[in-house]
Amino acid sequence: MNGDRDEGRGTRDASSPPPFLVPRPQSVGLCFTCRWTRLVTSRRGSTFYRCARAEVDPRFVRYPELPKLACDGYEEKS
Ligand code: SF4
Repeated sequence: MNGDRDEGRGTRDASSPPPFLVPRPQSVGLCFTCRWTRLVTSRRGSTFYRCARAEVDPRFVRYPELPKLACDGYEEKS
């Protein structure tokens, strides 16, 4: 049943690209203040910035390369 388990190798599904790891908030750029940003925290405590706009618009990627200095989808959080 759980044949896809990682078995402790420290890697995730090899078919999906690794999310962009963000060590400091100032490294995020526009995504830091965008209403479409979703913070994702891994079980190991790492934080990632996911773009929720990617779920409804194919022009965007789920985990954009950061810092994001320009973006057509940017909308400031209210
Ligand atoms: S829409 Fe652009 S600025 Fe906003 S979270 Fe997505 S990639 Fe970042």
